[in-house]
Parts: sequence; structure tokens; C-alpha cells
Amino acid sequence: MKWSVRLATISGIGVYVHVTFVLLLAWIAFVNLAGGGTIGGTVLSLGFVLAIFACVLFHEFGHALMARRFGVATRDITLLPIGGLARLERMPDKPRQELWVALAGPAVNLFLAAAFALLLLLTGEAPLSGSLVEGSLMQRLVIANLAIFAFNLIPAFPMDGGRILRALLASGGSYVRATRVAAGVGKGMALLLGIAGLVLVNPVLVFIALFVWIGAAQETGAAQVREAMAGIPVGRVMQTEFETLAPGDTLRHALERSLRGSQQDYPVVDDGEVVGILLQKDLLAAVAGEDTDDTPVSQVMRRDFGTVDPCEMLAPVLSRIQRVRHRSLPVVTRNGILVGVLNMQNVGEFLMREGGMERRRPGSLSTPALRAQLRRLTDRA
Ligand SMILES: [Zn+2]
Repeated sequence: MKWSVRLATISGIGVYVHVTFVLLLAWIAFVNLAGGGTIGGTVLSLGFVLAIFACVLFHEFGHALMARRFGVATRDITLLPIGGLARLERMPDKPRQELWVALAGPAVNLFLAAAFALLLLLTGEAPLSGSLVEGSLMQRLVIANLAIFAFNLIPAFPMDGGRILRALLASGGSYVRATRVAAGVGKGMALLLGIAGLVLVNPVLVFIALFVWIGAAQETGAAQVREAMAGIPVGRVMQTEFETLAPGDTLRHALERSLRGSQQDYPVVDDGEVVGILLQKDLLAAVAGEDTDDTPVSQVMRRDFGTVDPCEMLAPVLSRIQRVRHRSLPVVTRNGILVGVLNMQNVGEFLMREGGMERRRPGSLSTPALRAQLRRLTDRA
């Protein structure tokens, strides 16, 4: 995520903190000191906030480690002022697995609350007598973890409760329909929250309502993309009209071709065999140097490119494209014949086409949600 700083790598997962998080701490310190608080009291307040965010981090690791059990890697975990965000490489395929992944986060907070409560009991303190602002640090952490637990179980996206609801609905039928129902519940709750926020003149409630509404729309888009891609082979989506280069072609020649056409990346073919791929960004970086006009393409092309088979299914290939650093993959048949190029642009166009067709069926796709989802996909690639 932009504007994030890496704090540490834990269990192979990068942990980032968003810069706005630092602003939150500064704001808390300011409010404390401006309100006549002591330095000691301010440090204690900051310590409490940091302890809460440590609990949020444990929550995210609950999701990440459960996902790992199902073979799904986590790209990174980011701490934002509004909470944590674990970006999974993909969602697990089976609703039951998604259910476990969604439950694992809140379960961690329930466990932490119980552990702190037990420690309090052992030291003779009442575990549930505190509140978020009163009591010892440990008492406040019990309440905080119970609050995180309860908040996340609200059955609305982007909270875990929305995923849990969807997984429960999807186990009996269609994933997209389950998402639509879960998103509908989320939007209903967002509406109620928003009205409550306006009536009570509470901007925080209105903000949360907006957040829940956007989450529901995004989730619907993601499910639609998933459905549109189901059962579609690469061959139906790939670009079949494309140009190739030879390893001996000069960079000047490659640049001229690139400027003339709309193709960004070129498969490099030697004697009928794909030996590399010349990426537009590599080409531009190379020609920015001196005296590179006559340099052969073979010196700049990437040799560690992957290929896909036209019969492969689009969905798993897409996550592969997102994992490799470049956006294009040559499509090669089992006999080694280059038949196309697959990149995020083709996938995007295909999905927009499919989305447009679906839209004519009442109550199905909403194109803005789909568009937003596509932007997210292409941003990541
Ligand atoms: Zn969660």
C-alpha cells in the first residue's frame, strides 16, 4: 500500500504501518496535552493505543496463518488508523475454508480477552469491571478485545462478519448470490447506521456507514469478477494479433515498433521458439542510456518469463500474472507454438464485455462496482 513503512517481517509476512497511523498517535498526544493532561498520562494513553494495535495485529495474523493452512499466502499486513488489513493472495476456493479464515481473526481477540481476564483473576482483580477509559491497562485491554471481537462479527462487509455470513450462505448454493445477499444486509446496516449518525449528529457513525457501504459494493464487484472468470480458458481472452521481435533486432528497431503500435510488451522469438519477453519499461529504461541504439534486444529482454497454455483456466493464471513483476505472459501451446499474449488489459476488456452482457439481466452486475474491481486488479499487477 502507498504511504506505508515496513516495520518488520514476521513469519515471512511483511508488517507495514500506514503514515496516517503516526498522525493518529500525534493527534492523541495533542488532545491529551492540550486538555491539560500530564506527560505521564499522555505516554500511558499512547501505550494503550499501541497495545490495542498489537491486538489488531494478532487478529490479522489469525487470518493470515489460517489462510496459510489452506495454501493461501498473505502479501502483507498493514496497520491503518481504522484497523488492520491482511492482503491475502486470493480467497480460499471453498466457502468452508473462507469461513475458517474469517473466524480466525475474531477468535484471536476472544482468546486474548480470556487470557487477560485469567491474568486479572490470578492477581485478584475483577476482569470485567473496567471500560475502555477506566480501570487498569489489563482491564481496559479485556474490554478492548471484546469490543474488537464484537465489532468484527457485525454481519456486513468489510467486517469479518460479512465474510462469515457469505460463507454460510454460499455453502448451500451460488457464491455470487450469497455475496449479493450478504452485501445487501451490509448496505441495509450501513443505511441504518448512516441515518442514526445523521439523527444523532455523529460524524463517526456516518463515516463508518460510508465505509461499510463501499465495502459491500467492492465485495460484490470481486464476486462478479470471479464468476465472470469461472470456466473461461486463457485462449478466449488472450490477444491473438500481436508482433514479435528477434533476439538480434536492435533497440532502435524495437522502439520504433513500440511507438508505432499499441503493443506494450513483445515476445522475443528465435527460430520459432519464445526465448524471452521485451517489456516496454525495460526498453524505455535501456534507451534512456547512452549509445544503446544498436544494442540487440537479447541484452535487455527477460529470460525468466513464464508462459501459459491457451487451455489453462483464467482465474489461477490471473493470480500468476499478479505475482510476476510484469504484466504480460506469452501464450504457448503444448507443442511450443506461440499463439497469443495475455496481459491485464486483455483480461480487463474481456471482463468489461462480459459485465456489459450480464448487466442486461435484471438484478445482476453493477458496472461501477466491476470497474472499481478491475482498477484494483490492474493496480496490483
Ligand atoms: Zn478480521
